[in-house]
Amino acid sequence: MPELPEVETLRRALLPLIVNKTCTGLKFYRKDIRFPIPRTTLRKQMENQVVSQIQRIGKYLLLKVPNGALLLHLGMSGRISLQASMIPREKHTHAIFQFGDETFLHFVDPRRFGCILWVPQSGEHPLLDKLGPDPFSPDASARALKNHAKNCRSPIKTFIMDSRRITGIGNIYACESLYLAGINPERKAGKITLAEWDRLLSCVRSTLENSIAAGGTTLRDFFDPNGSAGYYAVKLSVYGKEGEPCAKCKTPISRLIHSGRSTFFCKTCQKK
Ligand SMILES: [Zn+2]
Repeated sequence: MPELPEVETLRRALLPLIVNKTCTGLKFYRKDIRFPIPRTTLRKQMENQVVSQIQRIGKYLLLKVPNGALLLHLGMSGRISLQASMIPREKHTHAIFQFGDETFLHFVDPRRFGCILWVPQSGEHPLLDKLGPDPFSPDASARALKNHAKNCRSPIKTFIMDSRRITGIGNIYACESLYLAGINPERKAGKITLAEWDRLLSCVRSTLENSIAAGGTTLRDFFDPNGSAGYYAVKLSVYGKEGEPCAKCKTPISRLIHSGRSTFFCKTCQKK
């Protein structure tokens, strides 16, 4: 599944290709993917309009034009493939967007959990309205998160993976950030102190930043017609390391299963 670092890498790769370029064509090959594609609205609002910027909120990309934005989400298996024409090159190409004369972005998504939607200028959209702040946004402050978590009895790991609280932190990044911050994943979110929130937030950001930095070197994956955007080759400390010695204290890394997802942590460095 494309995670926040992959989506941020894609955003950076798209900037020189489509910002200040005119959307010169749109083609759709399905009525819906995860949700119906508002084809008529998108054609009317996007065609002949110049893209002013690309914003990322969690794993959503917003390609901004004067009246609003094209909202893209890659779901579980989505990919943007850069091609040289308006002709679909592979199965599961659901839409093609042309910018200028020679940039063709093919939206490919075999499992169809992705989204192609329209957001009006107000920025209001049911999918975005429910989202908590992006981890890099100033709105994601330690104090705001502590207030938000007040009286919350959910484990801290569940809390930071809930996109309504803070958006875009996947399982790998949640495990790695909690380990770096020395916080046990099962502690109640409401019991995390301000100093711990401060540390956790900076660990979330540095974990994501390292992955984004590693992503720069694998940028081509997005544009390789046969490639897939997998996890970046970042050095992981706990994720997938059950039984291996902790790098800080040598205690074997533990694994827990929470609602079908694995949690990896060091029970010595991340005491309850
Ligand atoms: Zn340890």
